[in-house]
Amino acid sequence: MTTTPAAGTADSRPADLLIVDADIVTMASDRAVVSGGAIAVVDGRIAAIGPAATLRAAYPGSPELDAAGCLVVPGLVNAHQHTTADPLVRSSIPDDVPARQAIFDWIVPLHGAVTGEDDELSATLTAVESLSYGVTTLLEPGTVAHPLRVAHGLRAAGIRARVGGWGWDTPEAPYAMPAADTLAAQADTVAALAGDPLVTGWITLVGHDLVSDDLFTGAAELADRLDVPMTWHLSPGPEDPAAYAAAGRARPVRHLHDLGVLGPRLLLGHAVWLDDAELAALAETGTAVASCPGAYLRLGQGFSRAGRHTELYRAGGRLALGCDSHNAGDTPDLWRAARLFAGLERDRGIPDPLRADEIFALATIDGAAAVGLAALTGSVEVGKAADLVVLDTRTVPWTPRGDLPTQLVWGAAGHTVRDVLVDGRMVVRDRRITTVDVDALREEATHRRVALLRRAGIDIPHRWPTVPATEYCARRTVPDGALPPL
Ligand SMILES: [Zn+2]
Repeated sequence: MTTTPAAGTADSRPADLLIVDADIVTMASDRAVVSGGAIAVVDGRIAAIGPAATLRAAYPGSPELDAAGCLVVPGLVNAHQHTTADPLVRSSIPDDVPARQAIFDWIVPLHGAVTGEDDELSATLTAVESLSYGVTTLLEPGTVAHPLRVAHGLRAAGIRARVGGWGWDTPEAPYAMPAADTLAAQADTVAALAGDPLVTGWITLVGHDLVSDDLFTGAAELADRLDVPMTWHLSPGPEDPAAYAAAGRARPVRHLHDLGVLGPRLLLGHAVWLDDAELAALAETGTAVASCPGAYLRLGQGFSRAGRHTELYRAGGRLALGCDSHNAGDTPDLWRAARLFAGLERDRGIPDPLRADEIFALATIDGAAAVGLAALTGSVEVGKAADLVVLDTRTVPWTPRGDLPTQLVWGAAGHTVRDVLVDGRMVVRDRRITTVDVDALREEATHRRVALLRRAGIDIPHRWPTVPATEYCARRTVPDGALPPL
């Protein structure tokens, strides 16, 4: 497994980092777990995997990260994560409003009111939170007014990401433009981010029933021409099939198939409500799907009764996991998404639900494949980017260790993320973000939340009253002698 230079040769030079004494969950095609291994990181890549002594000899004088008693896993891939508007007003939309009302009464006004500064800051916030969970790659699905500001904010945190701008041609909606103008803006974003080592551009449409056929087909042609993937939302709940029917269209995935836009270049967010023909079309065309179980549960979209993502996977379909938004899923914690997905699929009573080992692949190598990055990330293999997560398995949630995939997906692994590297750079060290001043981030995010809600004209209803301590104390003072003796 090593491709190390021979010890003591003229080629010998220090690695940028040796991670030593770890057990390594590679997620390579044989799913090997290397016990007591070391990883050499050189120029952002995994240069070698092998015994520590061998790597120390090959890379003399290298700085070391002691991972004794720890587990190294590939950085996780979040294939559907909104980074703007919602992060600043996270967990604020009530959980008793229908999904469509949440979008049009809350999300759309918020997106209409965000500034470039808001977008950049909330992208950094989302990236920092993601990194703290060991998510090293995220796909921003494009409800973004200021994509270059978002790219800047993501880059500042040090996460790997793919970004696009707003893409819909529904009249009278924020950032809507005619199809040709939308496509020109998307092409500009891809061009502006070309060549960046971490954050580059995608073609991103809003999808649903909010995009014309011209825009769907134009996006597919543009993605082909620019040789980049594309993504949009479809059928998270029953509303999209109903809207397509009302408009005299075929069911949503069938409609896209008829337009000729399905294929390996497309990643659909959701695709929960599918009939047999739609499921077959996704599998046959190699269209990828990002499943976001936290969002479906939060919005009550019927995933447990209508979802068929196991069936899509078993039919050879390409599947990944996502966390959606801070008001639909509410956290970019992909460990939680994996656990929810595992439980929901298992509880459906189907004969062959996805197992933990398969679901951890969705969170890593399969997720990387779904976002077109399998050659670069998603597994711990020589030649790939050093996107690595050190889990401290000396902690109580890992005591004692059980079956690794079972414990990774069903246990509390996400609570034990100690160190995170992206492209060889240590972005989390001993549970602390190294790239961003988190105190300053918190202060600015708190300030921007208030200003954004005011501009959007939104009052967050609070079901629990806030009472100043002085008032509470005055109301609840107990008369002398009223307390029972201890
Ligand atoms: Zn979404």
